[in-house]
Amino acid sequence: MRKHLLVLAASIAALTAAASGITFRYYPYELRLRHSFNLAAMSRTVTPGVQVELRLDSITGYGEASMPPYLGESVESVTAFLSKIDPARLQNPFALEDIHAYMDSIAPGNHAAKAAVDIALHDLTGKLMGQPWYAIYGLDPAKAPCTSYTVSNDTPEVLAQKIAEAEPYAVIKVKMGVPGDRELIETIRRHTDKPICVDANQGWKTREEALDNILWLADKNCLFIEQPMDRNDPDSHAWLKERSPLPIIADEAVQTSADIPALARAYDGVNIKLMKCGGLYDAYRMAILARSLGLKVMIGCMTETSCAISAAAQLAPLADWVDLDGNLLIANDLFDGMKIVDGRVTLSVLPGIGIVPAAEVSAE
Ligand code: MG
Repeated sequence: MRKHLLVLAASIAALTAAASGITFRYYPYELRLRHSFNLAAMSRTVTPGVQVELRLDSITGYGEASMPPYLGESVESVTAFLSKIDPARLQNPFALEDIHAYMDSIAPGNHAAKAAVDIALHDLTGKLMGQPWYAIYGLDPAKAPCTSYTVSNDTPEVLAQKIAEAEPYAVIKVKMGVPGDRELIETIRRHTDKPICVDANQGWKTREEALDNILWLADKNCLFIEQPMDRNDPDSHAWLKERSPLPIIADEAVQTSADIPALARAYDGVNIKLMKCGGLYDAYRMAILARSLGLKVMIGCMTETSCAISAAAQLAPLADWVDLDGNLLIANDLFDGMKIVDGRVTLSVLPGIGIVPAAEVSAE
């Protein structure tokens, strides 16, 4: 870890902008995946990320942007956005609404970049209040559900290894919508009868194909189907919702709270991710709004360190399902935070988003 951090320190392309109080710093940090990630459209072994630190006196709030390629953000776009932030506008870190309005005035979109600042603000303000955010929200951490653990398709040998690695988790998540996806489900079923969440990643092209797959999955102990078809086709999802015995969850079709009311007729639930909606500020609103509309709530993630994962986990007690395994899938986590105990999301009692830099843990 020490050698790793020395390499990290040497590679930091940091910009430190000190104002009268808060210091704002950020640097690229590439996440290395333990296994290549095989999705409907591509395969990859690394995910670009940017780490953010907001420091006030001796207290540091940590934040993170993770940029899987399909969201359209990059290290360049995130650092370009962050370079436009005037640290003087962050001097009251509790002014979350004003700060989000300020970030939106800089540029629309850029949700991962905004999430990085938002997460750092939540970590900092929670530490200043001496409380974890789940407690500030008034949530009972014992209500956090089990997390799913993603098993992506691979050679039979590697797949068997991945299924073995999923042993500590009570729910398995599988990406479908690719050739051979039914065989993947059948292979998993030969190893375990744990419940499976299916994410089709928009991979099914017609209503009939989607419904045929869903009916096939319905007697295989599947919990729900995430984004079966194209995100821009709500009518087909409404058609599926009427006929599907399994809940249909929007992922690519939903980004922010503003998207939710129009989706309620076509989906049974929404997958909320900090990198899509710009952080905890909107993610909390999304969860409350979805529940008030009778929608199921899922809290998901990208490939992220324990920083963004532990931030998202603050909302886990509001969720029907959580898919917070991003930190478990990387080899170079920077933080120690939310833990999975007996398959369940177990929140740290530490204030803010409940994390400690891994370097501090290993130095103890
Ligand atoms: Mg998904």
